[in-house]
Amino acid sequence: MSARVLVVDDILPNVKLLEAKLTSEYYDVLTAMNGEEALRKVVEESPDLVLLDVMMPGMDGFEVCNRIKENPKTTHIPVVMVTALTDVQDKVRGLESGADDFLSKPINDTALMARVRSLVRLKMSNDEWRMRENTANQFGVMDETTSPMAECTQGANILVVEDKDFDLQKITNTLESENKTVRGVQSGVEAMELISKHDFDMIIISLNLESEDGLRLCSHLKSNERTRAVPILMVGTEDDMDRIAHGLEIGAHDYILRPVEKSELLARTRTQIRRKRFQERLRATYEISLSMALTDSLTGLYNRRYLEVHLDKLLKKNQESKKSLAVLMLDIDHFKPVNDTYGHKAGDEALKIFAKRIQDNLRSFDLVARLGGEEFVAILPDVSERRTYMVAERLRRAIADEPLDVGAQTGPINITTSIGGAIIDFEDHTVEEVLERADKALYEAKEGGRNCVVFEDKGKLNPEDYDIQERKPIE
Ligand code: GH3
Ligand code: MG
Ligand code: MG
Repeated sequence: MSARVLVVDDILPNVKLLEAKLTSEYYDVLTAMNGEEALRKVVEESPDLVLLDVMMPGMDGFEVCNRIKENPKTTHIPVVMVTALTDVQDKVRGLESGADDFLSKPINDTALMARVRSLVRLKMSNDEWRMRENTANQFGVMDETTSPMAECTQGANILVVEDKDFDLQKITNTLESENKTVRGVQSGVEAMELISKHDFDMIIISLNLESEDGLRLCSHLKSNERTRAVPILMVGTEDDMDRIAHGLEIGAHDYILRPVEKSELLARTRTQIRRKRFQERLRATYEISLSMALTDSLTGLYNRRYLEVHLDKLLKKNQESKKSLAVLMLDIDHFKPVNDTYGHKAGDEALKIFAKRIQDNLRSFDLVARLGGEEFVAILPDVSERRTYMVAERLRRAIADEPLDVGAQTGPINITTSIGGAIIDFEDHTVEEVLERADKALYEAKEGGRNCVVFEDKGKLNPEDYDIQERKPIE
């Protein structure tokens, strides 16, 4: 799929020029001639990148950028400011209004294309996480997406690889003036040594090292699991433009040209650190919220929601592989009196122990879920009939044969469970239907006296037929 780029400039020939360059590289180009039109198209068309002129009558580029970045719906769209101004203060102002990069007119083609490619790639990977976050949102736990602009940049650890003493000193002093912790080294070998022991929030690499190629180090860091996500800022000269483009291609995030200007270095550093922290937070919240949404907090087992989604997948897989699976429905017998006699807390403790025993007696890839209350389900993929009966009996005994220590003053308490089972063939079945079938068998087990196992078609199992000593499940 080709990426879509929005070009914003108030001067038509400028628009046409960029449009031609981008189209020849197979990008789809949208255009806007002023700030209002740009904002409208950003919202309506959701481009993958915006190339934004700074000097425009009415709303200027800084303001447009600010508005794009402040709107939660558009904040993830990368913005590159384009200007005839070479004033460093303007560059910094652009970066601080949330721009992802700054290009000077006349535009260097290599720099432009390298930028466009790397920002589009970064957006695609962020989009993947935003999509998952959306799924998590549907489960009702995650916050609204915030923007990277809100991330704190304090206390970052930065590694600088630079063999020119003067420049190393200047970069170090500049970063330290903003509370960054800086480690400086002269070579790739020293860098790798430090990286293996410490975590860095960003790595600055000189492309003008005397005895080695900084790009090789970039590529090394990008292929290393531990450092893959750490932003890299390259330092080079105008003459290095081709190598800088190559660096962006292999995954370096940004570059700065010599002589390194202090405020530009600080602004670029802040941008990278914010972006990294934002991504980390996105990932962490995603994982936590997902586990909260899909597991039961008391027992740690999966919940009904997860069970339903997963069972649906298993049933479809069975149809393809022509295998059967077993569904066991378990319900603790006379549980209400346990609560009434020993208290709700002891009841909770019993549920926890129950859950653990069931899990301990199944294979790691069997699925156990708490449906609610004192009702549980176990799904056993790919088992034979006889094996299923043996497992069900083993689960029943695992509860009944050993009293549960729930902290009651009178000592461990006796609990039993009834189990209903159904073996599901590889025909087309729905989740609802198979759970209902197991539930019906469970009802019969309750009717049949409790503390027993009933399978549909087969009826109540005779414990003696399945009384094997071996307790440990076979993986
Ligand atoms: P039966 O043998 O027919 O299953 O009888 P039962 O008492 O187990 O069944 P019933 O459905 O009447 O009662 C279930 C009880 O489980 C009611 C409630 O007190 C208890 N229960 C449900 N969820 C929890 C929980 O999270 N913690 C505790 N402590 N008790 C729970
Ligand atoms: Mg203009
Ligand atoms: Mg019960």
